Amino acid sequence: MGISRKDFLVKSAMGAAAVTLLGRDAFATGSVDLSDKTPFKLPALPYAYDALEPYIDRQTMEIHHTKHHQAYINNLHAALDKRNAPTGTIYTLDDLVKNAGKYGDAVRNNAGGHYNHSLFWSIMMPAYSTGTKSPSGKLKERIDAKFGSFEKMKTEFETAAKTRFGSGWAWLIVQNGELAICSTANQDNPLMDIAEVKGTPILAVDVWEHAYYLKYQNKRPDYISAWWSVVNWAQVETLFSKAGAK
Ligand code: MN
Repeated sequence: MGISRKDFLVKSAMGAAAVTLLGRDAFATGSVDLSDKTPFKLPALPYAYDALEPYIDRQTMEIHHTKHHQAYINNLHAALDKRNAPTGTIYTLDDLVKNAGKYGDAVRNNAGGHYNHSLFWSIMMPAYSTGTKSPSGKLKERIDAKFGSFEKMKTEFETAAKTRFGSGWAWLIVQNGELAICSTANQDNPLMDIAEVKGTPILAVDVWEHAYYLKYQNKRPDYISAWWSVVNWAQVETLFSKAGAK
């Protein structure tokens, strides 16, 4: 059994240099315990569950965060445990996502789910906060240069989100130093080795029905147009500045 084998390896590793399962969670705020069998943690939201009302309702946010996101983390731990990795193996979320095609579907879906949702929470903010309601600075310049205007970028992004068949995500990415828009199926993302369009995500919208169905039912376009009201542009600009844009 993976669990008992891992328990042994973790215990035996405590006095040695190696540890069998260590996740350095890119979104975690705390330190990692080397004996921790569940290294990937549900990140706390930087706002209350009802803080995105009326655009995203409290119940949707709470279920999405505590049930859906937590399930991706739980299933990621189970998928990694099944791998029975040798002593010394270190898993990082970045590596799992970037090499998703090599780790198989269970890791691809659940590492993707953990990464995507962690990013998604971070690029939203309460609508009543005093943050900017549109991009500024260099990001605004690059949006204007690439798409013609912020409004035109929004239209192209919304088209990507609305036309993604079934479950998935729409993305604004930095690709070879330039902005681009794309969408992915399921919990894939543009960092993955298997992605058709690759780049560094700086903005993402979840278009799975679980992200909007309680309030918007089948009206995905209404959810997407409302969602702009809770985008945290300061955070998007931070991600843009780190993404190697020209
Ligand atoms: Mn989701």
